[in-house]
Amino acid sequence: MRAVVFEQWKTFPSLTSIPKPTPGPGEVLLKVAGAGACHSDVAVFHDYDESMGMTQLAPSYVLGHENSGWVEELGEGVTGLEIGAAYLVYGPIGCGHCAACSRGQDTYCANAATNPSLASGLGRDGGMAEYLVVPARNLVPLGDADPIAAAPLSDAGLTPYHAIKNSLKNLQGGGKSALVIGLGGLGQIAVQILTAITGATVIATDMKPEAMERAAANGAVTVAGGPDQVAQIRELTGGNGVDAVFDFVGIAPTVRTAMASVARQGRVTIVGIAGGKYEWDFYSTPYEAELTNTYWGTIEELYEVVALYRAGKITPDVELFGMDDALEAYRKLEAGELSGRAVVVPSRATA
Ligand SMILES: [Zn+2]
Ligand SMILES: [Zn+2]
Repeated sequence: MRAVVFEQWKTFPSLTSIPKPTPGPGEVLLKVAGAGACHSDVAVFHDYDESMGMTQLAPSYVLGHENSGWVEELGEGVTGLEIGAAYLVYGPIGCGHCAACSRGQDTYCANAATNPSLASGLGRDGGMAEYLVVPARNLVPLGDADPIAAAPLSDAGLTPYHAIKNSLKNLQGGGKSALVIGLGGLGQIAVQILTAITGATVIATDMKPEAMERAAANGAVTVAGGPDQVAQIRELTGGNGVDAVFDFVGIAPTVRTAMASVARQGRVTIVGIAGGKYEWDFYSTPYEAELTNTYWGTIEELYEVVALYRAGKITPDVELFGMDDALEAYRKLEAGELSGRAVVVPSRATA
């Protein structure tokens, strides 16, 4: 079968041919419906190397950690899944038996240091291929919903959903506001989730006017970047500041904007992995404002994301690529030329 393989550190992936995988005990073989291309894949093949100690991410393997597909074959001991039914894949793969994994939070697995990989497509074969093998417990049923457009939800939907859920206490009580910084794939879905599950005023900011137009169409009040950005945001909140801020970029200037915009007793969640530094200061920080980060989400939350998707409350903006164009998807992602989330669709004929 054809697959997009990450073969070497600091090397662009290859489109190559590898054997079709076989499901082991407790695993399922999926015929891939869609595989989303994510910025963290670019970090993996472009920025990381062995000196960073990320042995679980060492090549080679098939990329793609935002996957959906149809059940093709069940491994030993797997029952209750219908051949041909569509599922969304929960990407993270922990030990499966620690306290965190038992609550479906494989991202914070207690045995992470000794697990062989982080997730499907992050240390073990992912979904940028015609077929994918995953543990049966990682499958969330999609019913009759479109599995192709759903693929990015397993990261670009789940990651903002988890961050927002952890901030819901800050958005209760009426008259609250949320700020989304960075309107790429995750930020756009964050706007949709905030609109769907909270009554907060959603403020969104980005450097790209077309990204802001899209967020506005989904119910956000937009504020452009620039010297007045923080003043405008504070004005929209009646001077109080924002109750829950979500930074999907995470560079030093966006973290500063987040902390300058937050309200007293507000919460700032850094989701973007750019690693921007911030110098905390008692006198300039609003009282009891929290600064935290989050990583991906839980299996239970992915069920909730799928419910919102099936109810039509979340619609990922996707750009589809056939297998022949899979590398073009990564090239465009790296070059910043995508407007929606790139999804590789192996069954799609190439134009
Ligand atoms: Zn990702
Ligand atoms: Zn675990």
